[in-house]
Amino acid sequence: MSHHITPSYDFCPHCGAATQMQHIDNQDLKACSAQCGFVHFNNPTPVVAVIVETEEGVVLAHNVAWPPGMFSVITGFVDAYELPEQTAIRETQEELGLVATEAKLVGHYMFKQKNQLIIAYAVKAQGEIQINHELDAFKVIPTEKLKGWPGPTGAAVTDWLATLVN
Ligand SMILES: [Zn+2]
Repeated sequence: MSHHITPSYDFCPHCGAATQMQHIDNQDLKACSAQCGFVHFNNPTPVVAVIVETEEGVVLAHNVAWPPGMFSVITGFVDAYELPEQTAIRETQEELGLVATEAKLVGHYMFKQKNQLIIAYAVKAQGEIQINHELDAFKVIPTEKLKGWPGPTGAAVTDWLATLVN
């Protein structure tokens, strides 16, 4: 997942006036002090997390920016006008080089630290794994050995595993 630069909105992006905190819709938000109408609503960014299931198990990957030993499911920003299930298929292709089919919704999770709305899917994927420049390692965990971890993507894995048990 590439980085997004989060602007501070100290100045209005429409008219350039300073912003000030205002109480709007029961929230404290930065709004234009020149009353041009701009409000920074600080809406969450939709991010898709993908539980990629191959015949050998679920693919966990290490992002180049992460501390050593940290592995997770792949994630990606939703492109303009893209449906999140399409993001799941696309990211599986881009990051792992796998062809994914039938993206099934697992659930929605909040990544509060980054104000991201995580939309988690599970896909079945085929092919030979070829990680892209965003990743530098991967491992395939047999489903029976997979466990969730703290945080939104780990919660998605836990919820997905629960759907497999009858
Ligand atoms: Zn303004």
